[in-house]
Amino acid sequence: MNTALIYHPIYLKHDTGPHHPERASRLQAILRKLQKTGLIDRLKVIEPPKASIEDITLVHSRDYVLSIKDICKDNDHANLDSDTVISRDSFQAALFAAGAVIKGIDAVFNGEINNAFCMVRPPGHHARPSQAMGFCIFNNIAIGARYIQKKYDKNRILIIDWDVHHGNGTEEIFYQDPSVLYISVHQYPHYPGTGPKESIGEGKGRGFNLNIPMQAGSGDDEYINVFNEIIIPKISSFKPEFILISAGFDGHKDDPLSSLNLTEQGYFQMTKLIRDLAKLYCEDRVISVLEGGYNLFSLANSVNSHLEALI
Ligand SMILES: [Zn+2]
Repeated sequence: MNTALIYHPIYLKHDTGPHHPERASRLQAILRKLQKTGLIDRLKVIEPPKASIEDITLVHSRDYVLSIKDICKDNDHANLDSDTVISRDSFQAALFAAGAVIKGIDAVFNGEINNAFCMVRPPGHHARPSQAMGFCIFNNIAIGARYIQKKYDKNRILIIDWDVHHGNGTEEIFYQDPSVLYISVHQYPHYPGTGPKESIGEGKGRGFNLNIPMQAGSGDDEYINVFNEIIIPKISSFKPEFILISAGFDGHKDDPLSSLNLTEQGYFQMTKLIRDLAKLYCEDRVISVLEGGYNLFSLANSVNSHLEALI
């Protein structure tokens, strides 16, 4: 089996309360769907170890990491910002979420698998070096990119982010870094307010940050067009040695947190296009990491399609 599903049950214990869109039932809905379609039998299911504090501090300040540990130890329930909620097990869940990405990367490099989907929560792409934000505590995908650089000495890493929201945290972390190309396609204007096309990186990183703002109402055709016209040529000139996907599915037409019109077929096609580039440039190495997606049915269906394309 060449594709892994990386998941740990502790993700369900990150308790955001009864009315929060980023809730444990998201992962349970995906699991039920994969069982119903039988896709789960075609995946290598891996339970990851947790990331170490040293792994997390590849991206985040030590003070910030330890402050999250303390807040979780002392509280059944606390708000890190207006919409980022933690519970007693959230610190551990966040360590295991970053751990999933690291496990996937190691499994790809040791030849165990070609690619993987990390079905994690909390999500990561809004998390800043010293600040939780937008349901995110640690920036899982950024930690993965830094881990690849450190352990495997790769210097051309692509992060493609198709979550409906701009990944402000990921952009910030790599804004001056030409070794990580960050591409985000997102609804704009929308939360978190960042992500205009003028933000192209800074210093040596200039030209290695690509934002593609999409108008409300955009759907599969508009996205595939943008992939063909802008994203694929950009990736082809960069020639990535590893591809990471910030896979949010909240751009689906039925998602309550956005106004886009993407469908399961759109996510299948986008995955296929990225996979084709991975085969061309980096021996099929792709690690996809769950970000958003808040309608349980469309989330589960979209992940199923995404995994069909990864398999
Ligand atoms: Zn999102």
